[in-house]
Amino acid sequence: MAQYLLKNAAILTMDADFTLYEDGYLAVEGNSIQEIGPTAQLEESRFAGYTVLDCRGKIITPGMINTHSHLSMMVFRSLADDVPDRLKRYLFPLERTAMTREMAVAGANYAFAELLLGGVTTVYDAYYFEDDIAREAEKAGIRGVLSETVLCNPSPSAKEPYGGIPYTREFVKKWKGHPRITPAVNCHAIYTNDTAHLQECHRIARENSIIFCMHVAEMGYEQADCLRDHGMTPVAYLDSIGVLDNRFLAAHSINLEENDLDIYEKRGVKVSYNAGSNAKGAKGVAPIKKMRERGITVSLGTDGPMSGNTIDILTQLPLVGKVQKLFNHDRSLFPAKEIFEMATIGGAKALGLDGITGSLEVGKRADLVIFETDSVNMNPIYDYYSVIVYSANPSNVESVFVDGELVVENRRLLTIDLKEARSRMLAYRDEIAAIARELDKAVL
Ligand SMILES: [Zn+2]
Repeated sequence: MAQYLLKNAAILTMDADFTLYEDGYLAVEGNSIQEIGPTAQLEESRFAGYTVLDCRGKIITPGMINTHSHLSMMVFRSLADDVPDRLKRYLFPLERTAMTREMAVAGANYAFAELLLGGVTTVYDAYYFEDDIAREAEKAGIRGVLSETVLCNPSPSAKEPYGGIPYTREFVKKWKGHPRITPAVNCHAIYTNDTAHLQECHRIARENSIIFCMHVAEMGYEQADCLRDHGMTPVAYLDSIGVLDNRFLAAHSINLEENDLDIYEKRGVKVSYNAGSNAKGAKGVAPIKKMRERGITVSLGTDGPMSGNTIDILTQLPLVGKVQKLFNHDRSLFPAKEIFEMATIGGAKALGLDGITGSLEVGKRADLVIFETDSVNMNPIYDYYSVIVYSANPSNVESVFVDGELVVENRRLLTIDLKEARSRMLAYRDEIAAIARELDKAVL
């Protein structure tokens, strides 16, 4: 059984009181946090046989949580970044013509490397071939909430429309109860699913007490078509068909009216705020100030690598602060501490995992990050939260534990051969570039 003693570190616990130890220790036994406190109270003799890490000058935080991504899209990253209507013009055709099981696995495998090296210990993924992705996540040592995408069109993993539903049933049965992999249900959006299938997916989520995630109130046409077809906003429509509850995770949630916020609050809906993807897609600013004032859980996501490019959460943190301060014309809003809360315990709440991760507390799983502070961007430190939110980047992540296992040690991945993962993914580059050239021609 793994036993570690981390001492002499600044520890940001992100517990309900935001307890911060300027000079603290943390003991890991098996997959859990056994003890945490000020180093002055450490009785080191009680930890004989433990691997001791002297973390002087380092900062320990909970592992970060990315609550919205489509990891296998990694293989398409940097294509069509500036193309309008990228989803229908590029992404759907690329997936239709190119995406295979092997490609999805290669993309996800590389993505897991990037996530862990960036200090993300839990990720939510919605894509295709999720059974294979789950096996990769298992090997990578990351915590995953994973779901097969359901939509009305044939998909890379299903020839039949809505083939994601039988896939999801099998997937949930197979992975439920796994210590690190949690199955979930995903419908792509209201414009790619009809009412009956949305309700069927909600039933699967309810019967299994698992998360049901969708893209909600993200697109302009989604809003307009829903008003035309149903006479109400997407959120009001989803509520009218009975699929919103406290296990519903709404990604994006940009175009919300007051009544939509009322519904989120009443139903206990959780939100994944995708600051970078929303901004790059010129979609708008999600009203997360209003959400938080109503007590709605807001977490952070990156969206797929073709939308937000990077998938670590550290890169999102300054964006959250800057976009929201600018949007609300108020510098005092969203102090760094609150932004980091959304990145950690907020993410755990959104995924229904706050009982086991998201904060550093005795009994919770040891999912944590050790930041170095030797790099030029990390000094001076007056406010630890500010340093993490506005100064740190993934290269400052030194070591990472997931479920008590050391998965990144001194910036070296222990669970994935990065060189091998890269060449496996890049093997598809020429084929994808050729398809993209054809797509370019199609619109000229
Ligand atoms: Zn998405």
